[in-house]
Amino acid sequence: MSETQPIWIKDPLAILADGAERGVVVSEGHIVELVGAGQGPMTPGTAVFDATAHVVIPGLINTHHHFYQTLTRAMPAAMDRELFPWLKALYPVWARLTPEALDLAVTVAMAELMLSGCTTTTDHHYVFPSGLEDAIDIEVAAAQRLGLRVLLTRGSMNRSQRDGGLPPDSVVQDEDTILADSARLVAKHHQRGPDAMVQIALAPCSPFSVTTSLMRATADLAEKLDVRLHTHLAETEDENRFCEEIHGCRPLDYLEQCGWLNHRTWLAHGIFFNVDEMKRLGKAKTAISHCACSNQILASGCCPVCEMEAAGVAIGLGVDGSASNDGSNLMQEVRAAFLLQRARYGVGRVSHRDALRWATQGSAACIGRPELGEIAVGKAADLALFKLDELRFSGAGDPLAALVLCAAHRADRVMIGGHWRVIDGSIPGLDVTELIRNHSAAARQLQAG
Ligand code: ZN
Repeated sequence: MSETQPIWIKDPLAILADGAERGVVVSEGHIVELVGAGQGPMTPGTAVFDATAHVVIPGLINTHHHFYQTLTRAMPAAMDRELFPWLKALYPVWARLTPEALDLAVTVAMAELMLSGCTTTTDHHYVFPSGLEDAIDIEVAAAQRLGLRVLLTRGSMNRSQRDGGLPPDSVVQDEDTILADSARLVAKHHQRGPDAMVQIALAPCSPFSVTTSLMRATADLAEKLDVRLHTHLAETEDENRFCEEIHGCRPLDYLEQCGWLNHRTWLAHGIFFNVDEMKRLGKAKTAISHCACSNQILASGCCPVCEMEAAGVAIGLGVDGSASNDGSNLMQEVRAAFLLQRARYGVGRVSHRDALRWATQGSAACIGRPELGEIAVGKAADLALFKLDELRFSGAGDPLAALVLCAAHRADRVMIGGHWRVIDGSIPGLDVTELIRNHSAAARQLQAG
């Protein structure tokens, strides 16, 4: 079938959409029709994709990651530590990152995400040692090679140990360099409008690695360039103590003082907000990326997702970096968030549908892309199709619930902007065996020093 011809994804086993029992029609990158029970498509000249073996859901959206960390997964020197000592063990390793190693790391992370049903991802890259000034350009090129929709954030750190921060001097940059490069990247790569495939946001790393001056200047630049803002906040008790000691206030007060408490901002983690702070977040339309696996591995805590949603805060999901997950599988993250939040709130308040909603519509709200994350007419043709032909699904009753309850981990087909980017569980043109060989060698070299 030609890629310009409308495609009827016909008679799915199940679909996460109302009134689409007989499937959807996609054309020119968008969903143009839902086909209800007992009907056929109104769109003329459709090619047919037989989906009778597939469960169809909106493409999953990942709202927090650090791609480069695939090079430091399960690294013994950093294992079994909480956030601050974990970071201190890893900063010197990350300071040795090269453009070649980053390219491999990014390709691995993106491929893992796509094969798990992800159609849009963010990345938060904040390590720019000498020689790696083009890190975000490398990420853009990889996304375009793979056909993945991305919101890449230009991260930054400028408060090193010399200035009372956590990172060593070798991984920070000065404020002027950071702001100039941020403006350069937005001008060069940021696409606007509902069909955008590459977008750029600005993302100082955290209150303990960035100066107040840079936080404020970044908010001003984001306003001027009309792009989004991202950072880590309220991840650990250590961070609360740091904020009280250095700034004399709690992290959310600090965020507000820096001009960040607004609709442009989405925050990774958001574990330690009190009820009043959640209301302020909801009122400001600041969203939260919930990173269930990372929060459990680093024993940081549990994001109070139900209270947040009740306060009007949009919740998305993020796999977080592969040194604290240590995977990039977004479907597994859906299950992890479901399990963690169900344990916290009980069976009556958290269902598999909630977890899927966080990873789709919730994540779309985090990144300011309302045209993504839903199967409805006019939305982007970003879809993930899963087959239930593995042992883990055998005997399952509800096909949609089975994705979460029986631990789906691999999509059979993924469509991004109307193009099939995963076919039969593989990414066409990507030699995974060779990628693993080269990436593993780069990881060994980086970790050895
Ligand atoms: Zn993170």
